[in-house]
Amino acid sequence: MRTPFQGLCSWCLSRRTFIGAGAGALALLALPFRPAGARAQEISHGYLSPRLAAFFRKLPQKMVQCQLCPRNCEIMPGERGECGVRENRQGEYYTLVYGNPCAVHVDPIEKKPLFHILPGSASFSIATAGCNLHCKFCQNWEISQARPEKTYNLELPPEKVINEARKTGSLSIAYTYVEPIIFYEYMIDVARLAKAAGILNVCHSAGYINPEPLKKLTEVLDAACIDLKSFEPKFYRDLVGAELAPVLETLKTLRRQGVHLEIVNLVIPQFNDRPEAITGMCAWIRDELGPLTPVHFSRFYPLYKMLNHYPTPVSTLERARELALKAGLKYVYLGNIPGNPAESTFCHQCGKMLIARTGYRIGETHLKDGACAFCGTAIPGIWKKPQVT
Ligand code: SF4
Repeated sequence: MRTPFQGLCSWCLSRRTFIGAGAGALALLALPFRPAGARAQEISHGYLSPRLAAFFRKLPQKMVQCQLCPRNCEIMPGERGECGVRENRQGEYYTLVYGNPCAVHVDPIEKKPLFHILPGSASFSIATAGCNLHCKFCQNWEISQARPEKTYNLELPPEKVINEARKTGSLSIAYTYVEPIIFYEYMIDVARLAKAAGILNVCHSAGYINPEPLKKLTEVLDAACIDLKSFEPKFYRDLVGAELAPVLETLKTLRRQGVHLEIVNLVIPQFNDRPEAITGMCAWIRDELGPLTPVHFSRFYPLYKMLNHYPTPVSTLERARELALKAGLKYVYLGNIPGNPAESTFCHQCGKMLIARTGYRIGETHLKDGACAFCGTAIPGIWKKPQVT
């Protein structure tokens, strides 16, 4: 039987799908999400909140160059960058989405997916409109490919995000659903306050960001779940409209900076399921990021511009997992197939089950102070509950 999430989501849900998701979600906060005491006018169609951008340089004739992501857009006065949420106003560069998310939900952390952080905990999740990528298979295209004046946005400045996270008992704030880099200034300000309050910061990103803003982000980021969409540059060019190399650099930087890292690979039959490519990707992860890096192979469902393509056969995902294990990776999960044994976590040393999962539900756990309760081996991840103040 299809769950409400199947066919809709590789791991995260748009506003549309969340409204339809019903009982599968930890808490239903479909937009317009209204924090306690919010006035009606705080939720509006096309609400914009211009704020000076953090990374750009001025060019002659009032042009600017955005330096946030590898696109390095050069923008004429009155125009916007590729992501549609940054605008040149008279030679100054502005983000238009500071403090105005269009998606606000409380999710289980498993939905990011982050399987090695505080199992079953709530994550206060936010996104604005816009994205710097144009994936033909995007699960959240209704907001990622929209301009902010086309979505219903909420006036939610950083202080309010922290308050709502506290009220909902969330142990983390997740920057997710679209590429969070495009709301970088908002994310950084929320993350700083969250850190001070003892709340973890996690993001689900495609990793398409320039080195300098990334380095600054790692100062406040606890964990990242990065989409490694393929290990073939052609796939990135044809289906994503971007380059693979900067994503690999981002992964290496996150590892070097000590940010907890998990990787998602959405397996699309005939496009990125070649065994040689999967083996090559896993060998790279093993050598550059370490064999204990959790990897999630996720099932593709036809969406957006790939409606004429069929869902990933379960056998294809199981073969990908076998190839990853053979390459030496120790924590390899399958996603979007609720009930599959590969949703659970097994100790890389003794092989016993540590965390049982079915979909986003957590069953028995056998972790003791971040170690396997059977053999005592330390398990990579963040297991200690933060003290939220
Ligand atoms: S963040 Fe947006 S405006 Fe800036 S370089 Fe990337 S796509 Fe262009």
